[in-house]
Amino acid sequence: MIISSSSLLVVVLWGWHYVRYDIRRMKRDRFLPPVLYSEAGKDSQDQQHKWLLAHNLYYRSLHPDSQQVFLERTRIFMYYKKFEYQGLEPDPFIPLMISSAAIQLTFGLDDFRLDYFDRIYVFRTAYRMTLRQHYFQGHVSSKGIYLSWEHFMKGYQDYNDAHNVGIHEMAHALSFGFFSDPYTMPRQLRKRFNEYVENVRPIYRKMKDGEIALLDTYAGTNFNEFWAVSAESFFEKPMMMKLAEPELYQSMCKLLNQDPLEIMYSERPVHSISTKL
Ligand SMILES: [Zn+2]
Repeated sequence: MIISSSSLLVVVLWGWHYVRYDIRRMKRDRFLPPVLYSEAGKDSQDQQHKWLLAHNLYYRSLHPDSQQVFLERTRIFMYYKKFEYQGLEPDPFIPLMISSAAIQLTFGLDDFRLDYFDRIYVFRTAYRMTLRQHYFQGHVSSKGIYLSWEHFMKGYQDYNDAHNVGIHEMAHALSFGFFSDPYTMPRQLRKRFNEYVENVRPIYRKMKDGEIALLDTYAGTNFNEFWAVSAESFFEKPMMMKLAEPELYQSMCKLLNQDPLEIMYSERPVHSISTKL
């Protein structure tokens, strides 16, 4: 069999594309970042704890032992991301809050750093992208995670309306590999997503047919939006979702390895969740 040099090059590049994510992941798995141990880091930790207590209801409702894991994960996540600001001044509160949305979503998973993404772009308010007519409150592309800070904060200020752009975009970021670049996703997580898709597909069909009132109609746009909108309801209206669509709720619990109704307001740290740093 003769393989041309150009097809060989394509195969090599294709392989390298996937291998580099594994290398990046392995490098990061070997060492905890110094941010967790430096004196300056310890000083800011108290402030970060106070900010999260005041502004992230999920964090506030955790047992103190779980809060400590949550905060450490948030600090690691921030350390590995570059935040770029458009129309607003950098402020340490912004990356902390945005990172906390990612950690909330992934709190039950070993993989919480969303390694596919290095950059998070933060806009003062809703923004337009080149060649697009409409305004975005957030979106995710291979270039990074994009958020309107104004809309992000609205999501956390009104925490029980099932609208939370931070959770929504982090859900897209978590599933980005699965929907567009599957082999960049850790194997375990890919397996969980496959099971989730299998389990909830009938519910998604019902949603498209207008038979489900629980979720925002935007969930009917496509399966990816169904997943992201479901994540918003899962955290902000867990009891309602559990009662109205128990199979969807259980599938979300299984995929994310956490049950918000069990984690929030638990008098003990929930040991079933991942504590890996
Ligand atoms: Zn979306």
